[in-house]
Amino acid sequence: MNELLALLRQTVGAHHVLTHEDPNADLSAWEQDWRGRSRGRALAVVRPANTEEVAAVLRACAGAGAAIVPQGGNTGLVLGSVPDASGTQVLLSLGRMDAVLELDAANASVTVQAGCVLQNLQQVAAQAGFLFPLRLASEGSCTIGGNLASNAGGTQVLRYGNARELCLGLELVTAQGDVWHGLSGLRKDNSGYDLRNLFIGSEGTLGVITAATLKLYPLPAAQLCAWAAVPSLGAALELLSHAQRQLGAGLTGFEIMGQFALSLVARHFPHLRVPPWQGAPYGVLLECSDNESQSHAQASLERLLGCALELGTVSDAVLPTSLAQAQQLWQVREHIALAQAKEGPNIKHDIALPVSRIPAFCAETDALLQREWPGVRLVTFGHLGDGNLHYNVQAPAGVDAAVFLRDWEARINTLVFDAVTRYHGSVSAEHGIGSLRAGLLPQYKDPVALRLMRAVKQALDPQGIMNPGRVLS
Ligand code: FAD
Ligand code: ZN
Repeated sequence: MNELLALLRQTVGAHHVLTHEDPNADLSAWEQDWRGRSRGRALAVVRPANTEEVAAVLRACAGAGAAIVPQGGNTGLVLGSVPDASGTQVLLSLGRMDAVLELDAANASVTVQAGCVLQNLQQVAAQAGFLFPLRLASEGSCTIGGNLASNAGGTQVLRYGNARELCLGLELVTAQGDVWHGLSGLRKDNSGYDLRNLFIGSEGTLGVITAATLKLYPLPAAQLCAWAAVPSLGAALELLSHAQRQLGAGLTGFEIMGQFALSLVARHFPHLRVPPWQGAPYGVLLECSDNESQSHAQASLERLLGCALELGTVSDAVLPTSLAQAQQLWQVREHIALAQAKEGPNIKHDIALPVSRIPAFCAETDALLQREWPGVRLVTFGHLGDGNLHYNVQAPAGVDAAVFLRDWEARINTLVFDAVTRYHGSVSAEHGIGSLRAGLLPQYKDPVALRLMRAVKQALDPQGIMNPGRVLS
């Protein structure tokens, strides 16, 4: 291993290879996951400056048979970006490769290095009059490489698709250290197998993304949101259907928030002033993007909500009168995960379901959970518009959360994922598999699909050095 470390230092410079042998180096930011569920120990944290250095690092690791864990912003929620405890894995941080390389206005595309922070890209795009429509609560820290490697979703998928659908081309380093120059602004390219889409969502298990060309959209003239209290999930789906018909492509977000999730935000972040939900079991945050004007967006939302109030689909509604008020409503939505973390450890499920089946799924699964663990608290929220629920389970009030997780997490997961399977859903909608969920796939993934995945892994990474134990266990 000393030989490998020497080679890595020679490749990227000694300053950019951090190890535990250096008493001044603090590696915790790279070794600890965002939720604090796992703390690994890396052989070294290596921080290359460009694609050639990434390729040389991968060649060195392949030569030594050392495992590589790629890391962007380390905001992933499924333990994919932190090393294991063995002290033998090389953590490859893309943090220094954060440049926006080129914005092609006429092609409505932008090319960035993998370590570019999502929010920086959003800002650069906005300054040029464009929208880069990937929006996540972690956007201030997560990177484009991580977004693509995990095929991130977020709150605008309903209109613009997930990270995969926003990507036109990739530059990538293979497990052997070869560079694939696949950066292209092409919207059509049928010249063979779709390698770009194979690497997107592969969670660092097939290669390292070093740069990407991404789609841009015209910046809308106005983006306005509204808050609606709904009497049931079925009513929320009716509102979604009305909104899709009335707003068309102008409907860019449709988020659902359960009453308990909102009460956690109210308790832990009182300054955010959660709108009153007056006993309604769910709140909806919907967003309208308008190419005409603010007043046109306002009129469209007023008409929609007026109809919904008359029909009883909505029991109460708030239309913000200022940008600050609108931002505050989004803040409420984006603080649910943080409020939940403050409430204590919990069991997270990031599931996808056919939109039409969500009310029946929740009625059945909520009841099953309550029957098995009376008093269990459900933090249900997410991207209803695209069928992605964050269906999280918190210990009953007064029960020690750590003990609850230790004793019940496995059984609760089985109950929830079995229900997801009965409803033809997926055990991961947007967070990925990582090592947290790798054990699930043999049980919940189609066996032929799993065999093909293993064949791809074997073909591209025969040494098994790319993020081992992630996705495929
Ligand atoms: P990391 O966490 O560093 O890595 C994620 C995975 O990608 C790991 O497997 C890693 O090995 C791999 N990887 C990273 N960079 C590369 C690269 N250059 N090449 C190859 N592999 C690489 N996710 C959503 O989809 N939607 C949400 O709405 C959402 N909300 C979130 C809210 C909060 C508060 C937090 C903390 C997280 C949220 N996430 C969400 C999860 C997370 O932010 C996303 O998965 C994000 O895309 C990860 O980006 P990252 O740069 O932090 O990647
Ligand atoms: Zn989400």
